[in-house]
Amino acid sequence: MANEYAYIKKQDKKVFEAITGEEKREAEGLELIPSENYVSRAVREANGSIFTNKYSEGYPGKRYYGGQKYTDVIENIAIERACKLFGAKFANVQPHSGAPANIAVYFALLQPGDTVLGMDLSHGGHLTHGHPVTYMAKIFRFVRYKMKNPETGEIDYKALRETAIKEKPKIILAGFSAYSRELDYKKFVDIARELGAISMMDAAHIAGLIAGKAVKNPLDYGFDIMTTTTHKTLRGPRGGMILVRESEEIAKAIDKSIFPGFQGGPHMHILAAKAVCFGEAMKPAFKKYAKQILKNAKAMEEVFRKHKIRMLGGGTSNHLILADVYGSLGVSGREAERALDEIGLTLNMNAIADDPRKPMDPSGIRFGTPAITTRGFKEKECREVAEIMIEALKNKDNSKKKKELHARVRKLSKKFPIPDKFV
Ligand SMILES: *Cc1c(COP(=O)(O)O)cnc(C)c1O
Repeated sequence: MANEYAYIKKQDKKVFEAITGEEKREAEGLELIPSENYVSRAVREANGSIFTNKYSEGYPGKRYYGGQKYTDVIENIAIERACKLFGAKFANVQPHSGAPANIAVYFALLQPGDTVLGMDLSHGGHLTHGHPVTYMAKIFRFVRYKMKNPETGEIDYKALRETAIKEKPKIILAGFSAYSRELDYKKFVDIARELGAISMMDAAHIAGLIAGKAVKNPLDYGFDIMTTTTHKTLRGPRGGMILVRESEEIAKAIDKSIFPGFQGGPHMHILAAKAVCFGEAMKPAFKKYAKQILKNAKAMEEVFRKHKIRMLGGGTSNHLILADVYGSLGVSGREAERALDEIGLTLNMNAIADDPRKPMDPSGIRFGTPAITTRGFKEKECREVAEIMIEALKNKDNSKKKKELHARVRKLSKKFPIPDKFV
């Protein structure tokens, strides 16, 4: 890796070894966690840039410290690109990550005790949508909707509307981290408008697919707010962002909520990396990338279907698959995660809808194609990975077989090194 870590190497052997160890791990294995990706060298350069030195509390043109000539340039570029990329009028690019972005929205628009209607965690929702273990659940009231039928993934919109009428949520929240189908955005927005609620989409997982026009853009259907991470399918630095489609009043409340309400100074080096990432996402090559993510997920779906493995939602319309490996193969999610890890495939165990097993050892695994697509995998390689996965699960106690499969994973990884640039 050239001289990238020359100073750390001299100064801090232990940290240097961990970094190079991780570099090797990422290069030799295959990343199937659907919320992870490999960023470009340009994004990493911005991420590691001198802007980490700078305090810039406030917003462009309205800072609480001097010396903001270049920070303003960076933040304005990031905002302008974000708005253009997602068709929003306002963007706050300062959230430190996806969770703080959601929290800042709640505090911008709600009083303690107010109600949010969101997707049930066990049906694909996210912890930050009011799971009882989170602090937000102590402050606001979260009520839930679910899928009507886990075999098709369709949301029970009728029950959603009835719950909304009964519970009077101030925010109706769409979005997920373990759901493989596309939502009917219009239905969410219609129900929110009918009942005078604010509609919010958490696009953390699919922002890159939206930016690359591989899936629908929720903002086109009238969502008031869209939050996202920037490090998942969008392929940028670890961070968050809040987009507001049209309302200046909401945008102002959100800016105040992020700072001074919730965060201190923005991480300007991350904002620089976000700007670079948005620039990459505007290029035609990114559209191709986003579309290939979907094609690759479909290719894996076909293999799982051929082997009669149950998939929640019956398959995938996005970048991820949730497979009921316990129900189909008698291998628990935890066992599957471990067996695949041993052959160089990284993914995570996941609860499935109405899971008969416990969260710490659920029935499912969740995996996706954003990272391997970045490595250049096409349908053929994705089918091979799916075949390897299933063979490994069927032979999880056969170490000779697993050695053989590990060698196949290594060969694929070698053939598709992590690229330095995409545009
Ligand atoms: C990943 C994710 C988040 C949280 O993002 P962090 O950056 O980990 O805080 C929020 N919402 C959804 C739907 C997610 O998938």
